[in-house]
Amino acid sequence: MLFTFQDRNKERWLKSKARHSTKLRGHRMEKSWKRLDAQGWEQSLKCIECGMESIIDLQPLPNGVDISGEAIALNCPVRW
Ligand SMILES: [Zn+2]
Repeated sequence: MLFTFQDRNKERWLKSKARHSTKLRGHRMEKSWKRLDAQGWEQSLKCIECGMESIIDLQPLPNGVDISGEAIALNCPVRW
């Protein structure tokens, strides 16, 4: 499946929300997201300090979430 204009907007929105949440938890995240699949429906970002990850999913399963990962749920143990 191809990325639509709406998908791009959703991707941008999820990434900014994920970055904001991890920042509030004291993490210092990498600059660029890593694709976990060929199209980039799922992408991850790692904290430079502690290695915890934040993951976004543009097509989550019905019982899944679109923003997840340890860096979203826990404070950075290195900086806090
Ligand atoms: Zn961290």
